Amino acid sequence: MLRLTDFKLPLDHGPEAVAPAIATRLGVPVTDVLAHTVFRRGYDARKRMAVSLVYTLDVSLRDEPAVLARHLADSHVQPTPDMSYRFVTDDGPAMASRPDYARPLVIGAGPCGLLAGLILAQMGLRPIILERGRVVRERTVDTFALWRRSELTPESNVQFGEGGAGTFSDGKLYSQVADRQHYGRKVLHEFVRAGAPEEILTVSKPHVGTFRLVTMVESIRAQIERLGGEYRFQSRVTSFEVGFGTNGRRRIEGVTLADGSSIAATHVVLAVGHSARDSFAALYQAGVSMLAKPISIGVRIEHPQSLIDRARFGENAGHPLLGAADYKLVHHAANGRGVYSFCMCPGGTVVAATSEPGRVVTNGMSQYSRAERNANAGIVVGLTPADYTPYGDDVLAGMEFQRHWESMAYQAGGGDYRAPVQRVGDLLAGRASTELGSVVPSYTPGVTPTDMAACLPDYAIVAIREALPQFGRQIRGFDMEDAVMTGVETRTSSPLRISRGADMQSLNTGGLYPAGEGAGYAGGIMTAGMDGIRAAEALALDMTGGRNLR
Ligand code: FAD
Repeated sequence: MLRLTDFKLPLDHGPEAVAPAIATRLGVPVTDVLAHTVFRRGYDARKRMAVSLVYTLDVSLRDEPAVLARHLADSHVQPTPDMSYRFVTDDGPAMASRPDYARPLVIGAGPCGLLAGLILAQMGLRPIILERGRVVRERTVDTFALWRRSELTPESNVQFGEGGAGTFSDGKLYSQVADRQHYGRKVLHEFVRAGAPEEILTVSKPHVGTFRLVTMVESIRAQIERLGGEYRFQSRVTSFEVGFGTNGRRRIEGVTLADGSSIAATHVVLAVGHSARDSFAALYQAGVSMLAKPISIGVRIEHPQSLIDRARFGENAGHPLLGAADYKLVHHAANGRGVYSFCMCPGGTVVAATSEPGRVVTNGMSQYSRAERNANAGIVVGLTPADYTPYGDDVLAGMEFQRHWESMAYQAGGGDYRAPVQRVGDLLAGRASTELGSVVPSYTPGVTPTDMAACLPDYAIVAIREALPQFGRQIRGFDMEDAVMTGVETRTSSPLRISRGADMQSLNTGGLYPAGEGAGYAGGIMTAGMDGIRAAEALALDMTGGRNLR
């Protein structure tokens, strides 16, 4: 089988056009093309009037060695790689329960913790998954209570609970990180097994929407439990017990939960996400090595989705194979700040995403259909740890910076979880908004027109004001007067990195595996899941002393 990449066909080609095009591309008679399957399908919309589909195809030919020999210098014609997942070690009874080993702990049931738990369970290591929030169905009720009735449950909300931060999301499932071990493929296969549509395996920018994610998370739980794993919900880890191993080095010995009980453990995956501020403080108190890291701050912007579709696809807007258009924008502002779009949600809604009382935080989500009226995305400004120094003199200062601006947004919104909003026209003119125009903000429980300068640092306002007209040159209408910004977008990534070595263990606390977004090693559902697999593999190798088969 050969893999043919960057293979372009017109948007409206029929299925009968594929084999002859392959034959022409490879210089063989069409009768030599025995079979072909789509590995991935994307599109190239750089020329709006001539949008093309871009395929990666697996092709079976009559004489593959001869074709490969003729295309030796062609990087787009290669043997199809073996991307199937193999366990890192199969010493011992892989896939069967291994009661001879102490049970590993996984803290957090977000994408990182779920994939770590799943791999550990599949390897027979019967993990215990500790999750501070509630099971996903109950969590959904709690989350809607904030969105509909302004009632926040601090332990069960958009950030906390089974499924983690990505559960109420657009469910975008792609990443651009290098992935030599094909962990991304394993994540996608597990998601399909858990109920995601098969198309996520072939579409270049797959998404599943929020409702599917809920059932997928339940299905992954069922599989982990069937394999001997165990979930403990409403089990918030409040402290980390650290002792000294026989070699005199610091080692994790267990954790204490909010109810005062303790669990002894030699191996712990720490997958707490970027909003676990109390956990970061507890880790800091336990002396676990960590560093401040850059984050960003800004707003969620909304436009009519039809405007984005037209700007990106021209007359092809609305084509079923293209779906609702997305965008990615970057601007380097004169004050030295980078401004960029973040987590763009086509046809979606802006959601209230705080986990702490008295704070307002924005993010975006959508359903699988992406059929809502507005497109939304974070428009955020890059920061460095030097920006947080007024907010604290230790590694937790970034967290305090976030808290400060989230509280300012809460006050600017009216002090009842409504969010501050401003029209783009008003921000560009330097005046507060007093009313809104044609774009109706989708954020619930409500919004207050105001001046974003009340809840963002000055340099961020200056940089966003400069960036919007630039973005309007790339996407016509992006800086339209009535586009609406809702604030504040602060939880774009973790404000710190929990340092780990090549063995995936904390640099100064053996047996602790910091992983996923909270530890600073992922940004999104896919990369968090991939990092969870990596952590589970490293843990399994260390725990079992097994041979590394890679
Ligand atoms: P999390 O998902 O944050 O999971 C951490 C888990 O740990 C949580 O369940 C939490 O309750 C639990 N926990 C925390 N502290 C403790 C403790 N002390 N004890 C026990 N349990 C604890 N990414 C995408 O790729 N695509 C998207 O479309 C997308 N949309 C998003 C929309 C929204 C509204 C949000 C909030 C995020 C979105 N993201 C999206 C980002 C994505 O959700 C995260 O990158 C991803 O969830 C990180 O995974 P994680 O497992 O590292 O952490």
